[in-house]
Amino acid sequence: MPTMDQVNIKDKTFALSIPESDILQAVEAVAQCINRDLAGQDPLFVCVLNGAFMFAADLMKRIDIPCEITFVKLSSYSGDSTTGTVKEIMGLNKSIEGRNVVVVEDIVDTGITMESILRSLRGKGARSIRVATFLQKPDALQRDITVDYVAMQIPNDFIVGYGLDYDGYGRNLKDIYTIVK
Ligand code: 5GP
Ligand code: MG
Repeated sequence: MPTMDQVNIKDKTFALSIPESDILQAVEAVAQCINRDLAGQDPLFVCVLNGAFMFAADLMKRIDIPCEITFVKLSSYSGDSTTGTVKEIMGLNKSIEGRNVVVVEDIVDTGITMESILRSLRGKGARSIRVATFLQKPDALQRDITVDYVAMQIPNDFIVGYGLDYDGYGRNLKDIYTIVK
């Protein structure tokens, strides 16, 4: 997809807010921190589908230490507002016992999803659990969770692109677009 000034998805209009070059620079910075912090620790990345697939792909290409990746699938959003309930659609199929886990998320908004992921990972014998998120909306956070790596912080507006969707669409956009009110 080329970069556009605006995109229409269903009934909504979105304007370009973060171009791909800025995204990739921020991903590179997170990768460098992880390469440094987790050197020699054989990290296991747990990518939270669907939204984090694109961030996870770009992040993994920049990880230069031995590591593994596995996937879990959750859903918490319907349309453009959070429902507050988190459903596990595809659980962990790999042991995290003794592993240094890095949860890879697209965005931490209220923190409800991340809190529930961390709750389900705890008690499974991981040596450590860290969180890497592509985006964070600090003004929306309602839970007491620690996010170890944040690529970019954004205002409390609905965005699409780079893996994030509006009603299933827009995940293929390589740039981030913000809803036009
Ligand atoms: P939380 O549970 O932290 O409120 O929300 C986390 C999930 O909501 C994210 O994994 C993401 O799927 C979705 N989400 C939160 N904010 C946005 C947004 O601005 N755009 C899109 N497309 N999804 C969002
Ligand atoms: Mg997500």
